[in-house]
Amino acid sequence: CGIVGYLGRDNATPVLINGLKHLEYRGYDSAGIAVFNGDHIEVVKAKGRLANLEERLEGREVAGHLGIGHTRWATHGEPSDINSHPHTDVKGEIAIVHNGIIENYAELKAWLMDKGCQFVSETDTEVVAHMLNQYYTGDMKDTLFKVLPKLRGSFALGIIVKSQPDTLYCARKDSPLVVGAGEDGTKYIASDIPAILEYTRDIYLMDNGEIGVLKTDGVTFYDEFGTVVSKEIMHVDWDI
Ligand code: GLU
Repeated sequence: CGIVGYLGRDNATPVLINGLKHLEYRGYDSAGIAVFNGDHIEVVKAKGRLANLEERLEGREVAGHLGIGHTRWATHGEPSDINSHPHTDVKGEIAIVHNGIIENYAELKAWLMDKGCQFVSETDTEVVAHMLNQYYTGDMKDTLFKVLPKLRGSFALGIIVKSQPDTLYCARKDSPLVVGAGEDGTKYIASDIPAILEYTRDIYLMDNGEIGVLKTDGVTFYDEFGTVVSKEIMHVDWDI
């Protein structure tokens, strides 16, 4: 039950793993990451401790400048490799991490299966990946405005899209999420400040219903109606 995301010049993978370590205290049963490697989105995930995920990453070159990570506390679907996050659409071009519960997932899943979507996991989260694919307009921000109102329940979401490798997307409703702004335009998302405090002390607190569009040259926040929200950076002066 933790989220972390990275967009910047460095390799996302170690930042994601390190961030997830700082979120271990929240409890979890599995963990995973998705990194855009310049060609496609690579997903590596494993049931159990973060050490299992790290083991799975050993000897593999999972590297790129954009990525998301997750520790899962299963609510829908047993703890397993397949049910671990990130989840993707069928083509693997959209990857998401989710904290919370999609209450109307069964209804949405039936609708999506009717449209021919094949599900691989038993999670409520996977419906969000397929919904984003169904409604994808070429711009994930507009897509989120279409899809999020159809979701009931709670969510903090981190999203990456193969066709928009310069942007990290996030959204929240009734689950916590913050955005960090680091040096040289580096951007972070995290479900809690300690996950990224090693990298930046400049934090934006997201309000309920907001969407964040993070690029190296800036962050734009929108409320649920699509209106730009201006937000002050909060400078964190405490330590972990
Ligand atoms: N409901 C989702 C699942 O069971 C997310 C759980 C979480 O917040 O970690 O996969």
